[in-house]
Amino acid sequence: MRICDLHADIGMDVLSKHRKGERNVLRKHHIDKLKQGEIGWVGMACFFEGHETMDDFKAMIQTLRKEILGNPETISLYTGGNPHETKLNAMITVEGMCPIQERIPSTIRWMHRQGVRVASLSWNDENTLSTGVKGNPSRGLTLQGQLAVKTMNQIGIIVDVSHASEKSFWDILRVSQAPMIATHSNARRLANVERNLSDQQIKAIAAQQGLIGLVAARHFISSEVDMQTADTLAKHARHIADIAGIDVLSIGFDYMDFLEGPFGTSAMASDLQNAAQAQNLIQALRNNGFSKEETEKIAWGNAASFFEKNLK
Ligand SMILES: [Zn+2]
Repeated sequence: MRICDLHADIGMDVLSKHRKGERNVLRKHHIDKLKQGEIGWVGMACFFEGHETMDDFKAMIQTLRKEILGNPETISLYTGGNPHETKLNAMITVEGMCPIQERIPSTIRWMHRQGVRVASLSWNDENTLSTGVKGNPSRGLTLQGQLAVKTMNQIGIIVDVSHASEKSFWDILRVSQAPMIATHSNARRLANVERNLSDQQIKAIAAQQGLIGLVAARHFISSEVDMQTADTLAKHARHIADIAGIDVLSIGFDYMDFLEGPFGTSAMASDLQNAAQAQNLIQALRNNGFSKEETEKIAWGNAASFFEKNLK
């Protein structure tokens, strides 16, 4: 079954490999695995954890864009409307806008011109715009962050709240004129970590017709090692559907097997180690009582409706 994966840190991987002299990173490291897992649409995230400069920011977005456009026979840059039916749809996303400290509207307009269509104001850090889950809990969205959200609303970049602190989440909800998306977060009710969403947050996203992407990072699925599986992730889907309806559900695996350093496969569910294993979640959803039609909505249809409606 064809899948839309809202979040993979591929932008970060592309830039780090380019800086070591590699080229054609998408072709060499990503396209085949995505194809094996029937992932036909992927949010390729440019990830910034808090210390990066504006040069890093622009280099990552531009390098990723160049790689996407360098594979016109297999990849289609998705910026709105209907996704391509056969090619891999690549959507450029930003995770953490820490390098933006001034010239906020013009930098966000630059992001949009490069093709960015989803962005989170902060990663776990706190920055000029907003506060992530590891920042000061009483700080939230800043005045500059409000300006960022308004600019994103105007030009059509969806605000991603996956790493937002609780206060930032509710601040963004109050300020934003457009539905928001949590590209890679599960239900806190089943795995009590701050990166997951409370029932109240899940209902609030659903009430504005937003989207929540099920994430395969193991600690966000369960605190018990033998429960860190696609099957338990499907139980998160069941809980979210029960309290907020099925239309809010989507997928954002956050595969990181291709990253070097402290991340990698050890961070993932035992049967969702990389993009090639993505269909294990489809099977788990079916095993947990989601019909074929419901599973297709979670895998693709809900994301397709959301982006067709919200990206003009
Ligand atoms: Zn993340």
